[in-house]
Amino acid sequence: MHKMSFPIAFEQSLDGLPGVDAGALLRALRLATPVSIRYNETKRTTPASATRVPWCNTGVYLPDRPAFTLDPLWHGGAYYVQEASSMVVAQLAGILLSLGERCRVLDLCAAPGGKSTQLASLLPAGGLLVSNEVIRSRVAILLENLVKWGTPNVVVTAADPKQFAALPAFFDLLLVDAPCSGEGLFRKEPEAVHEWSEANVQRCADRQRRIVADAWDALRDGGIIVYSSCTFNRRENEETVQWIIKQLGAERLPLSLDPAWGVVESDAGYRFYPHRLQGEGFFISVLQKRSPHTPRPLKAIKIPRQAIAASDAAQIRQWLHGAFVPMLKGRLIYALPQAQQPAIAQLLAHLPVLQAGVPAGERKGTDTAPTAALALSVACRREAFPYVTLLLPEAIRYLRRENIHFPGAPDGYLLVTYDNLPLGFAKKIGRRTNNLFPMQWRIRMAGV
Ligand code: SAM
Repeated sequence: MHKMSFPIAFEQSLDGLPGVDAGALLRALRLATPVSIRYNETKRTTPASATRVPWCNTGVYLPDRPAFTLDPLWHGGAYYVQEASSMVVAQLAGILLSLGERCRVLDLCAAPGGKSTQLASLLPAGGLLVSNEVIRSRVAILLENLVKWGTPNVVVTAADPKQFAALPAFFDLLLVDAPCSGEGLFRKEPEAVHEWSEANVQRCADRQRRIVADAWDALRDGGIIVYSSCTFNRRENEETVQWIIKQLGAERLPLSLDPAWGVVESDAGYRFYPHRLQGEGFFISVLQKRSPHTPRPLKAIKIPRQAIAASDAAQIRQWLHGAFVPMLKGRLIYALPQAQQPAIAQLLAHLPVLQAGVPAGERKGTDTAPTAALALSVACRREAFPYVTLLLPEAIRYLRRENIHFPGAPDGYLLVTYDNLPLGFAKKIGRRTNNLFPMQWRIRMAGV
């Protein structure tokens, strides 16, 4: 139990919220946070024996918090550590399916990537996820998490929501997991308590409306907007949703949540409270855009191409399953999902794109090296490379970027695996082996 104290005005603000017993909620906010992870089923099946998160069939609770840094499966993207309430995104599966094989989804406030990795898994194979984060210092962790998750049909952008106005009626679904006052995370992130004030709640509410309004034209009429926050107050939740409905033009869509889960339905969405279920405070509402104003679609354009050697293009295609088009940018060769080429061309022309598809190869002198992103991609053709299997202590040394010797292995690029999960590449040259695990992701923890 934390000895946490909350601002009086916050405690008072809980009175009268739908489904709240303020005393029980405040007690729950002083308890330890439940630990939960969500499996990446393209890499690992969810263990049948685990305690499931009721609203997400790939989410499980753990009895305590292990040192994830020392688990190679975490580095290999077999699961994502995420608080349980947010995993309700799983309940959007039916809606995503209804949007069609080539649907386009925008996660506007995406870092560190919990909901983006989940959306990526729910997306049809021919669909496209644009995962955007405007705060530059948060983009690296978003990229890392998405690369490790390994879904190939993702584009990562670092745009201000306003910049999406350049893509009228482009998206079928827009997720705004808005920056908020964070009341629902008080026990997980105690600094949110110190930042809390009534004035800050109002500032957050104003910003949320601005963010949705700025990106609104990028959503097609009839498209879906999912609005969520991790706070309790009505101003940032129901009132923001009502504002979207009235000012921008939308109507609510229901989710079918089992009453036994303990989620509270309010007049404008669904509320997750830590005293009613195992998860943090969370709010989600699903709306359908109903707006008479239909912007003109964009003129088709082509992806600007930097000349790529035929041998490189052939190599990249040979390294991946599925239909990809190679694109050279600087020294990296990206494998772009073929079905989404027209959409990616527009994104490249109008937005700051940081990554598109799989950055699968890197030009190094006369050589093209496979990247860690290729090893981690679920589209990687594993049979294109000889592989080595490491046991736990060696896998940790690999992830620390130490040099490991593979005496029996052939020369050249080796796919490094642990428990049948690729972690990255190494290059063997005679008796020397170069560890190609990315420097910025290496385990730095001392004493292991
Ligand atoms: N969706 C993320 C996930 O599931 O891991 C969490 C997103 S967090 C609640 C909100 C995000 O909005 C933060 O990454 C923050 O940097 C970003 N943000 C802050 N100000 C913003 C703004 N003015 N416009 C858009 N996004 C903003």
